[in-house]
Amino acid sequence: MDSKAPHPQAGPLIRPHNFIDGRWTPGHDGQGFAVTDPATGLLIAEVPDSGPQDARAAVDAAAKALPLWRARLPRERAALLRRWHALILEREEDLAALISLEQGKPMAEARGEVAYGASYVAWFADEANRIYGDIIPDQQRGKRMTAIKEPIGVVAAITPWNFPLAMIARKIAPALAAGCTVVAKPAEDTPLTALALALLGQEAGFPNGVLNMVTASRARAAETVDAWLQDGRVRKISFTGSTPVGKHLARESAATLKKLSLELGGNAPFLVFEDAQLEAAVDGVMAAKFRNGGQTCVCPNRVYVQSTVYDRFARLLRDKVAALRVGPGSDPATHVGPMINARAVDKIARHVDDARRHGATVLAGGKRLEALGPNYYAPTVLGDANASMALCAEETFGPVVPLFRFDDEAQAVAAANDTPFGLAAYFYSQDLRRIERVSRALESGIVGINEGALASEAAPFGGIKESGYGREGSRYGLDDYLSIKYLCQGGLA
Ligand code: ADP
Repeated sequence: MDSKAPHPQAGPLIRPHNFIDGRWTPGHDGQGFAVTDPATGLLIAEVPDSGPQDARAAVDAAAKALPLWRARLPRERAALLRRWHALILEREEDLAALISLEQGKPMAEARGEVAYGASYVAWFADEANRIYGDIIPDQQRGKRMTAIKEPIGVVAAITPWNFPLAMIARKIAPALAAGCTVVAKPAEDTPLTALALALLGQEAGFPNGVLNMVTASRARAAETVDAWLQDGRVRKISFTGSTPVGKHLARESAATLKKLSLELGGNAPFLVFEDAQLEAAVDGVMAAKFRNGGQTCVCPNRVYVQSTVYDRFARLLRDKVAALRVGPGSDPATHVGPMINARAVDKIARHVDDARRHGATVLAGGKRLEALGPNYYAPTVLGDANASMALCAEETFGPVVPLFRFDDEAQAVAAANDTPFGLAAYFYSQDLRRIERVSRALESGIVGINEGALASEAAPFGGIKESGYGREGSRYGLDDYLSIKYLCQGGLA
């Protein structure tokens, strides 16, 4: 097959250009890079391999658009967001097909992602009208003190590939609702869904320059984003991705002291106590771990099971995992799709091989599935995991469940917290007092209690420790895009 031929599943929403100041443009250097289908390796489209000139042009447009956008009434900004929301839902099937094509997740999950991403747009459209300040009770006669909230300015959004629509929607929506303008760089593996969102924003009537997007290959991501880090007009960085890149952004943006939201890697523990409903706990692991093939930052990375119920839990889980169907996202029978790229599969294989060398037993999977395509790995359960294994310290980001044994609660909590990360944690127990104790003891921004599915636009999503700071979603999600101004009016007595 001609590698330049259009991909047979390429849909109508593909716009392989940068989007700057309301125009679809090639990159300044005219260079492009390939976006490929992770299930087959086939080319989907070439998008601009942008550099600093493109990044600066995007900021020029966002800075020019800012005064008029922030001056709009919140309800006017909300109306545009609602139109965008309606268009996203109208194109649900095309967007889901595009997500599944460039990211690999099963279509059912891709549809779920469209609804999930859109829910942030609707949420922040509503929140736009609730950006309240304070009238501070009088402290001195003749003086009135008030605190108002203002948009922080131009926002740079940098997003990962695992949720090509939701991760960028949940940054753009609060930024625009707050009255900020946006420059965005989607992940190099999945830029097409983000560009499709920009297209629908254009159709919704976003003014030119309010939302801008540039694409760049992995090799050029740093120099493109560095242009934003160095630019004093960019007042805020919102990033979801790996901890090393997050630390780089924090360091490099220090010169202009930008506000930062960093949603970084996790190493989520999942604790199963002997008083848990074991079937429910198994369902919780299945829901939390195998969503997106294990490629989410809240996926359990370490499952600790109390010794008294370990064998039964391991059997129940193994049977469910062995029954998962692996295949392309476009096949309705698929539960687990391909991993995003060869780098991802190599890391999974390295973790499983290392665990084996350190004494793990393979209860299910444990191998690449080369016959299916280049990026497949079998859903895997490893027994007898221990802290000397690489998968205990690093996030595997794939369909691998390592089972660790523990004897008592204190030991389990200590092991769960023995990580520099703190994004999500889960535990299953039926004992109310234990639930209270463990909820408070876990060092984590998010805790699932007898529940494996945590995500909601109404909840504050974010981490502590080296998982970052800032919150997305909920009534707190707007604060990241606002600054507080204190007004002190005298001469009133
Ligand atoms: P992952 O390892 O999951 O791909 P990354 O943190 O590398 O996570 O990528 C998340 C986002 O950060 C992507 O949009 C990527 O292009 C971008 N990125 C990667 N390296 C850098 C860098 N040095 N500077 C700025 N952005 C980067």
